[in-house]
Amino acid sequence: MRNEKTVLKEFLISGVALHTGKNVEMKISPLPKGSGIIFKQGENSIELSAQTVIGTEMATTIGGNGVKIHTVEHFLSAVYALGISNLLIEIDGEEPPALDGSGIQFCQELEKSGLVEQEKTRQIIIIEKTVRVQSGNRFVEISPNSENRFHINSTISFENSAIGEQSFAVDVNLENYREKIAKARTFGFLKDFDYLKSKGLAQGASYDNVIVVGDDEVLNSGGLRCENEFVRHKILDVIGDFTVLNADIIGNYKSFAGSHNLNNQLIKKILSDKSNYSVKS
Ligand SMILES: [Zn+2]
Repeated sequence: MRNEKTVLKEFLISGVALHTGKNVEMKISPLPKGSGIIFKQGENSIELSAQTVIGTEMATTIGGNGVKIHTVEHFLSAVYALGISNLLIEIDGEEPPALDGSGIQFCQELEKSGLVEQEKTRQIIIIEKTVRVQSGNRFVEISPNSENRFHINSTISFENSAIGEQSFAVDVNLENYREKIAKARTFGFLKDFDYLKSKGLAQGASYDNVIVVGDDEVLNSGGLRCENEFVRHKILDVIGDFTVLNADIIGNYKSFAGSHNLNNQLIKKILSDKSNYSVKS
């Protein structure tokens, strides 16, 4: 069991948003124990939960009560890895900044601000039964883990030979997150960018914040940051998606060609039947 945490002091993270292309500023502030993760946009605010996920196309969108924020998952993956339970995030745009398209800078900025332990035990959600969501040959599944870990084993499969089929498995903890997952960037296909841009999406996308995949090759001049960067990023997304539970997870997650949509369905399915999990707090 570990205690809840928040940041020591208020600080700013700013940069270009991936989809709108606008410069956005996020003000991160501490909150008292038991407050949860609160997103504030203008005068409106919502507490992060599985119910506040209102969109899962391409990225995870949270909303309700006059708030709507896209692409929260990379930031949230760092929040989970650091075990932060209470946080106020005020954002002056529709998305957090893309930064480098991974989670590493969010993690570094949160750590740099200093984290403080609070006098309350962080909730743990223990998966008690196998829960699965399938769509065609794609699936996401979570089952009990007897070693008290949140273990993720993901496989992705693309026809494009720059990606192909790749798998990666990891126990989610801060050290593994920092060393194996946090630096993995989001990716997109060059052939899709014109279409996305015509739809008003990906306006801020560039070689600085996306791995751009052409016909069977990575087009970024620096290439990849690590082997299997694509599937590692998918794992970063899974961690971010599970952050809506605002608890440490004990379970074995497995996926083939998973997505934000399937992850969100899985989380809602877990919560829909109380015999699927137990809660320790
Ligand atoms: Zn992502």
